[in-house]
Amino acid sequence: MTHPLLIIGAGLAGWQTVREFRKLDADTPITLVTADAGDFYAKPTLSNAFGQKRGPAQLVTTPAATIAQTLNVTLLPHTRVTAIDSAARTVQTSAGVLAYRDLVLATGAQAIRVPLAGDAAEQALSVNSLDDFGVFHQRLTALGEGVRVAVMGAGLIGCEFANDLAGAGYAVTVIDPADRPLAALLPPTASVQLQEALTGLSVQWHLGATVQAVNRQADALALTLSNGHTLVADILLSAIGLRADTSLALAAGIACERGIVVDRQLQTSAAHVWALGDSAQYASAASPGAPTGRTLPYVMPIMSAAKVLAASLHGTAASLEFAAMPVAIKTPALPIVAHPPAPGQLGQWVEQALGEWWFASADLPERAHGFVLTGPHTSKRMALVKQMTATATVAAT
Ligand SMILES: Cc1cc2nc3c(=O)[nH]c(=O)nc-3n(C[C@H](O)[C@H](O)[C@H](O)COP(=O)(O)OP(=O)(O)OC[C@H]3O[C@@H](n4cnc5c(N)ncnc54)[C@H](O)[C@@H]3O)c2cc1C
Repeated sequence: MTHPLLIIGAGLAGWQTVREFRKLDADTPITLVTADAGDFYAKPTLSNAFGQKRGPAQLVTTPAATIAQTLNVTLLPHTRVTAIDSAARTVQTSAGVLAYRDLVLATGAQAIRVPLAGDAAEQALSVNSLDDFGVFHQRLTALGEGVRVAVMGAGLIGCEFANDLAGAGYAVTVIDPADRPLAALLPPTASVQLQEALTGLSVQWHLGATVQAVNRQADALALTLSNGHTLVADILLSAIGLRADTSLALAAGIACERGIVVDRQLQTSAAHVWALGDSAQYASAASPGAPTGRTLPYVMPIMSAAKVLAASLHGTAASLEFAAMPVAIKTPALPIVAHPPAPGQLGQWVEQALGEWWFASADLPERAHGFVLTGPHTSKRMALVKQMTATATVAAT
């Protein structure tokens, strides 16, 4: 009997792999096991849903049963995989043991939690799934008008939520140890532009500070900050980053670093076991500062990786090469497109105009190794991607 292609995870990585594989092969049995309901939704919509008055149900674009039927998949929802035996080619799940022909790990990432002191520390919420969003949405809407939301983290997800919630009328305060928002991604003057734009929506800031303790204060939360302030909020959203979920792979002895290590065909260190998405560390994204590869927790890398993985699973030779993939940051108060330089790339941010920054090296100042565009300058995105692609091609020849 032929065992199925077994996929763990019903996020974009899992479903997109199925879509791509079905273009090549309509018949091979596929089983998709997932801890959640399996409904298809676009995760990026979680951080701009309040502005569009959409709740969790409205974010589902294709219900699980429909997508499973369309793609001819046996779906096991609400089923958790607890162990992999790559020698026996089986997985242990909460519904029993399953055998596989090939196994795809599309288990995503986990929200990073920092230990907080106080009697309400467990009240900090993270939003990294539709279910998380359901809890967050329900708590916020139950509290009604004028809710005070403290957002821990001024990175991409923290800033997007700050914009969305402030735009929807919530009183938002952002806390971050850096002295400016999106410090890891933007040059300082771009951060200033973003901070001003969000301040224009009444967002308040505690920068250069961390949350140390969360305690109950009547019906609210009192946050003790490292800068000596106490901030009172109704909800605390923790958006301090994600970490690839490598737990199953690690326990099975599969090589992991910052993510599950995969080669250019998306194969892990174990035969017949593959990985992609937020859980993977791609050799195709290696650079001088990350010689063994990088995690790329964004949509576009998944779209490219799923195509190559489907070919690998089909037995067709394919190799993953990432194109330049800028990220559009969903802060409508100041639209931003960012393409960070690869880790280890030498150079510095050079302001071409207020709203356009290139990461350029001293030997090639007329070429961008990365860029940030804000406001009306975001229209230059394609031109800069073309320029970077041309540079990469020249560098490779
Ligand atoms: C709020 C937010 C906004 C974002 N905005 C953008 C954006 O604008 N642009 C962009 O490019 N990217 C954005 N991203 C990132 C992007 O959404 C992710 O890179 C992508 O959705 C990850 O998909 P995934 O399938 O790898 O992981 P997930 O979507 O996390 O899927 C993981 C799946 O694995 C399942 N699973 C995990 N462990 C097990 C187990 N042991 N057993 C069974 N099932 C298991 C889970 O239930 C889930 O179904 C955003 C992310 C967030 C959180």
